[in-house]
Amino acid sequence: MSNRILVLGDGAAGTIISNKLRFLIPTEDADITVIGNSKFHYFKPDGIHIPLGMKRYQDSVKKPEFLFNYGINYVKDTISNIDVQNKKVSTKSGKEHTYDYLIIATGDRLVPEDIPNFASEAHHFYSLEGSLELKKKLAGFNGGKIVIGPSSIPYQCPPAPYEFTFQLYRYLNKRGILKDTEIHYIFPPNRVFTIENVAVYIEKLFDEKNIQYHTMFNVESIDSGARKINSLEGEELPYDLLVLVPPHKGQEVITKSGLADEVGYIDVDKHKLTYGNYDNVFVIGDATNLPISKAGATAHFESEYLASKIASEISGFISDDEYDGAVACTTVTGDEKAMTLYFSYN
Ligand SMILES: Cc1cc2nc3c(=O)[nH]c(=O)nc-3n(C[C@H](O)[C@H](O)[C@H](O)COP(=O)(O)OP(=O)(O)OC[C@H]3O[C@@H](n4cnc5c(N)ncnc54)[C@H](O)[C@@H]3O)c2cc1C
Repeated sequence: MSNRILVLGDGAAGTIISNKLRFLIPTEDADITVIGNSKFHYFKPDGIHIPLGMKRYQDSVKKPEFLFNYGINYVKDTISNIDVQNKKVSTKSGKEHTYDYLIIATGDRLVPEDIPNFASEAHHFYSLEGSLELKKKLAGFNGGKIVIGPSSIPYQCPPAPYEFTFQLYRYLNKRGILKDTEIHYIFPPNRVFTIENVAVYIEKLFDEKNIQYHTMFNVESIDSGARKINSLEGEELPYDLLVLVPPHKGQEVITKSGLADEVGYIDVDKHKLTYGNYDNVFVIGDATNLPISKAGATAHFESEYLASKIASEISGFISDDEYDGAVACTTVTGDEKAMTLYFSYN
């Protein structure tokens, strides 16, 4: 009998897991269906380079259907409810999808509205629209105080704000306005990056470039009149240009379906990637509450583990392999250099 594998989400995690599953499982042994509502698939890491004129945005978008291998059914629809008890997923178009295996890969969303005045005062590079707006804003910038950083955690791709800062430094230098600019980097925990030895290295690079940093800075509000940001910890910082990573939350459908609280990230078994007591329901990518980076690289390593586990099971072999949280990802550090981070739960 053919198994039905249903993947929810057509972003990085949904695309990677379905292609890996199709590669490992013969078409007669499993139907693979992906449901997603992307208008286009945007390669988000390019968001760092688009505002600085280092990348053409047209090269960063693709039609999602072009990214799925032969033998994957792609359904363009919006998921409206996930009923894990009855193994049913409903969509906005009124359809119901049943499954033997469910993989939730719906990512997370930006909620700038959680900080008053964000829309009118802050710029960001966390969406294609945001990066294109920031590009225009930077073109008109001729010096002053730039404040950059994540407004709160968690957020996608923890290195992205420091990567953008280093590339911005290069951009300002090229335009000859570095000497007229002060760069201030803010970070919510008590060092400039979550992993300690990486933080030490980034602080060294910041010091060499005279980039000032302010840690334990969680953005609470933006004072548009005085042009300063206030932190939950009671600090304030004036700005001429504000580049903030917007706050993030999980998808509303996750909360509405009762799979997570109001914040929307799903608790999963960190070694099996399963949800609750359901050994046929898995969650990967940014949708999880796991204590590792929300990154495409994480989705990739999780998919490697999960596709092989499901394929083994379908072929009749019960695998007791566990995921150890291992991820590798490469990040740019300016001066035409990069650094690869390797980490795991331990
Ligand atoms: C500026 C920036 C730079 C980054 N750089 C890197 C990097 O260098 N390396 C790295 O590894 N990662 C990087 N990332 C992070 C990476 O892009 C994300 O972690 C990754 O996209 C997560 O994949 P995902 O599939 O979980 O979520 P997404 O890619 O966001 O996909 C979720 C999908 O689910 C769909 N969806 C959601 N809700 C519904 C619904 N109700 N119905 C139907 N479909 C739905 C969405 O349309 C979307 O297609 C970066 C991110 C940003 C913003």
